[in-house]
Amino acid sequence: MNVHEYQAKDILQSFGVPVPRGDVASTADEAADVARALGGDKFVVKAQIHAGGRGKGGGVKLADSIDEVRDIAGQMIGMDLVTHQTGPEGKRVEKVLVAEAVDIHQELYLGLVVDRASSAVTLMASAEGGVEIETIAAERPEAILKEAADPAVGLLPFQANRVAYGLGLETAVARQFVSMAMKLYKTFTESDAALMEINPLAVVGDGVLVALDAKMNFDDNALYRHKDIAELRDPTEEDPRELEAKEHELSYVSLDGTIGCMVNGAGLAMSTMDIIKHYGAEPANFLDVGGRATAERVTVAFKLILSDPNVKAILVNIFGGIVACDLIAEGVLAAVEEVQLSVPLVVRLEGTNVQRGRQLLAESDLDIITAEDLDEAAQKAVAAVSAQAR
Ligand code: GDP
Ligand code: MN
Repeated sequence: MNVHEYQAKDILQSFGVPVPRGDVASTADEAADVARALGGDKFVVKAQIHAGGRGKGGGVKLADSIDEVRDIAGQMIGMDLVTHQTGPEGKRVEKVLVAEAVDIHQELYLGLVVDRASSAVTLMASAEGGVEIETIAAERPEAILKEAADPAVGLLPFQANRVAYGLGLETAVARQFVSMAMKLYKTFTESDAALMEINPLAVVGDGVLVALDAKMNFDDNALYRHKDIAELRDPTEEDPRELEAKEHELSYVSLDGTIGCMVNGAGLAMSTMDIIKHYGAEPANFLDVGGRATAERVTVAFKLILSDPNVKAILVNIFGGIVACDLIAEGVLAAVEEVQLSVPLVVRLEGTNVQRGRQLLAESDLDIITAEDLDEAAQKAVAAVSAQAR
């Protein structure tokens, strides 16, 4: 689960990480009130959406007076902000963060990720913050310093120190960097984060280090033990299909491809996605209907898949273990009838009562392409999609 910048900064602050003073506002007048309460005459107004690249997209603006804060906030709130991460339709801005503006001397990058290669939470840092870190990672990976934290002892000060000097920071700033990295690591692990990015981590006016931006993502499976963080969820930022799936206890993740997948079991769902890619197409989603693939759940699953306009074919791959294939076949047939299928459907069944299940599909006058094994099913689904492209 992602949170907004202002929420991430609240969390960081509660762990003692320095962030610029500021507050969130939902209207232009509220934004002006925040600026008045902050005092001073240099402010920054920042659109709060779950996407990066706001600066380049016009979602981060400096203001020299309370009136200017009000004007900028008035323009930003309600606009559809387009950044390289939002897609062309952009994201509606509901809130802005109004903060005291600072004089930036240097922009660093600091990230904490769960790194699969080292199986450890890893600190990443670069002296070139502010810009897209992906570009640096792709073009000059050596400009990103990394330290993997041993899970048994956590990130150690000497590691943060090594990074600080590797970045070429002078002693006074390096000391702050080490203290900040240790606090960020503590925030990360104690809040069960999956990703944290401070970009830029800025050296401001008087040589002070502050987190100027903050992005945090939390492990959904750990949210049950962080009620306060779970409450930060912003449903307007979530994929409506994923929300709907959650309500029906289906595991669904929407992806960019064209073949909608309906599978029971996460492992089988992963291999189904792999084999679709193997035969040259891309999955439109990950969908695990779970152990009990009842007619009702299958119907909901079909509706979910079909509500994605990118879907050009559906591949159902179900292993009848706990539930028998003939029941699944009945469920699929009932669902297909109910949802008025508009794209080719490939079904592969295997497991208990498979003969009876296949017979049911074969006898139906609905337009269903059947397959005996996974290779055949994937090839037929890919062929159905390429036939439309021609
Ligand atoms: P992002 O583009 O969505 O990552 O938004 P950021 O919060 O990182 O802001 C983008 C850029 O705006 C930063 O890299 C800074 O250069 C600039 N910026 C943000 N806050 C301030 C500020 O208080 N003062 C100044 N001068 N620039 C700021
Ligand atoms: Mn940023």
